[in-house]
Amino acid sequence: MSRRASEQLGITTLEDISTLILQSHDLDETLDNIVTLVAKRMRTEVCSIYLFEEEEQTLRLRATRGLSRRAVGRVTMRTGEGLTGLAIEERRVVAIQEPQSHPRYRYFKETGEERFHSFLGIPLFDRKTPIGVIVIQTKEPRSFRPDEISALSTIAFQISSIVVNARLLDSIRLKEEESSRFARELEKTRQSMLSREAAPAETREAALRGTVAYPGVVSGPPHLLDEQLGFADILDEEAVRPEEELQRLEGALEKTRIQTLFLEKRVAERLSQEDAAIFHTHLMILEDRGFLERLRREIESGHSAPYALKKVVGEYIEVFQRMEDAYLRERAADMEDIGRRLLANLVGQENHILHLRYPGILVARELLPSDMAALDHEQILGIVTEAGERNSHAVIMAKSLGIPALVGVKGAFKSIAPEDSLILDANSGSLYVNPPPRIVEEYRRLEEDCSRELHRLEEFRDLPAVTRDGERIVLRANIGLVSDVDIARRNGAEGVGLYRTEFPYMARGQFPDRDDQYQLYRKVVEGFAGQPVTIRTLDIGGDKALPYFSPPKEDNPFMGWRSVRVSLDNPDIFRTQIEAILMAGMHGPVKLLFPMISGLDEVRACRKVVAEACENLRRDGIPFAGSIPVGVMIEVPAAVHMAEQLAAEVDFFALGTNDLVQYLLAADRNNPLVKKYYDPLHPAVLRVLQDMAKVTTLHGKGLCLCGEMASDPMNFLLLIGMGIREFSMPAPFIPRTKAFLRNLDLKTARKAAREALLLTDSAAIRTLLGKALAKLEPAN
Ligand code: PEP
Ligand code: MG
Repeated sequence: MSRRASEQLGITTLEDISTLILQSHDLDETLDNIVTLVAKRMRTEVCSIYLFEEEEQTLRLRATRGLSRRAVGRVTMRTGEGLTGLAIEERRVVAIQEPQSHPRYRYFKETGEERFHSFLGIPLFDRKTPIGVIVIQTKEPRSFRPDEISALSTIAFQISSIVVNARLLDSIRLKEEESSRFARELEKTRQSMLSREAAPAETREAALRGTVAYPGVVSGPPHLLDEQLGFADILDEEAVRPEEELQRLEGALEKTRIQTLFLEKRVAERLSQEDAAIFHTHLMILEDRGFLERLRREIESGHSAPYALKKVVGEYIEVFQRMEDAYLRERAADMEDIGRRLLANLVGQENHILHLRYPGILVARELLPSDMAALDHEQILGIVTEAGERNSHAVIMAKSLGIPALVGVKGAFKSIAPEDSLILDANSGSLYVNPPPRIVEEYRRLEEDCSRELHRLEEFRDLPAVTRDGERIVLRANIGLVSDVDIARRNGAEGVGLYRTEFPYMARGQFPDRDDQYQLYRKVVEGFAGQPVTIRTLDIGGDKALPYFSPPKEDNPFMGWRSVRVSLDNPDIFRTQIEAILMAGMHGPVKLLFPMISGLDEVRACRKVVAEACENLRRDGIPFAGSIPVGVMIEVPAAVHMAEQLAAEVDFFALGTNDLVQYLLAADRNNPLVKKYYDPLHPAVLRVLQDMAKVTTLHGKGLCLCGEMASDPMNFLLLIGMGIREFSMPAPFIPRTKAFLRNLDLKTARKAAREALLLTDSAAIRTLLGKALAKLEPAN
């Protein structure tokens, strides 16, 4: 075999391997498919893969073609044993004729390998760490030629990363199964407290399941937000200007060509010139006159650039898919890839709002805050995501808009087509795809019940928030977008406890200037007619990025350059925002809040910027509120320990439990793998909350809890019992919290909190609180 031929052999095999991976559902299936294919392509009787098991320090046969299948999973050897062990021990190719006569040969009778007279073993590596060995064997005594060894080495190189990924995916899948079991248990308890309605019992099994982020029942068609391709959501936009769209297209083409060149270079450097060749084909398509002509024609006939792209790429894909020739059929995938990259560059442009033409249920793999900011909220009846956690910022936005949302719905994207009809039951955590008429009918009844329940809750909207025994509680709204103002007012919020100012800027193309910001804040302040509005300065980083101010890539963004740290490092941006807030203070009672404070230095640095802002405004003769209350968020554990000292320098505290819980328990608020560790009812969290309630009372400073935990009745009962009297939450939760408060008396709440604080595990705390909740009698 010539070198070229051997490379070809390797490469064709690699292409096949990628196809096989797509058809494999787990590590074992992937390995199985690989050995079958390699044995066929290398024309050997045997191909086997052994993987190294770190804990036992042994190699285990994981897949074979040619040896006895019974040996799979059973045959193990230490690295010092056998020829396979030799390959990994010495990290080298082992090619031997008549292996039985080699001193390292070890016979495993389960395999039946005595029939084979040649052995070629090549180690697999994850970077520099050996992770296994691929072995081929033949019946004929054969001395493997260098070109054959090189072909198998190429394959070994490629499958190493496949094995690493498949292993990773397997462990993620296992962990997800584990945590979703836990989540389901938790959800059951929570739901029985939260909602009176339940899904019709006999229909539950047929539905996809998820975790409730915001309750409610809705039905409608899906809006599939495919962040990979994104074409499903591109609808034809009316009244577009062809010249602008053509320009937009040219810009995107140019960007995509540059990216493609970059990709080609990168792959050539890291893999091989042959692997990189595919990007050359992509470049040719991006330059292809026919392709470009068709795109331009679509735009000239009045379509938007994304729509033209969707149409033309779709047509190309269809044509490729109909080809007789297998090679050309595969080019459909390239076309899709090019389309995806072009689209990303098109929609990544400024001010892009995804227009949804009709009301529907948004289905996404993952929803980022910037997606939520860019979407047309009016048309979103409900939200379903495969990933995402209850406390992710995108979900927080959905909650404040009062949109029923279900997160962690595995396989939702694959199971739903644009023409399907959905019922989203975000009370019981179920999603029905094309349900039969019987279920539709039951849900129609349930939707009616739900709207009756909402109606009932409306009664509480304008009533004061008081406990059954008359203790006054303050319930404010968490808001992000200006549209939240109206929702907050309609739900009877007493002003705003947390205005997340980063959200309105996510949908913009650039940072708004002082006057823009002032107009926006003023609108919010005036919207609340005399009720306080706490404006928090920019809290970007973590999972929140502004398209025009993306944070640098960090290994640990939540522990990194985020929030007030970014502001303090960008004094001009920071001062401008503070000036706008002080100016808005002329129109109502505004409070200024700094996020992510960990100590006194930062507070002093922030105060210094406030002083500079005042100075600037004074100098420019602009009216502003010179002495607005200044507060800090308590969301970093260090701030809890510094609370007494901080109390001497600030006017109020906002307790940000979303972050506080993640930092206290070292459990990422967005990561499903550590969901079970992210527990607001962890005994350590309870102690911290109790300490904060005490310190602030002692120092006579206001404390407003604005984390998501307050909207769960079980937590709320506990927080009231601890002495917290002011809360800020997504506005749609306010009426139901008021209704809940009317059934709650301080004595019960205090007793539950006292007892909970004595317990040492959260399961016991939950049981205790659950019992206390169950005993509450509805007030008449
Ligand atoms: C919090 O951390 O609890 C909080 C309210 O802020 P955010 O969710 O915006 O980080
Ligand atoms: Mg926070």
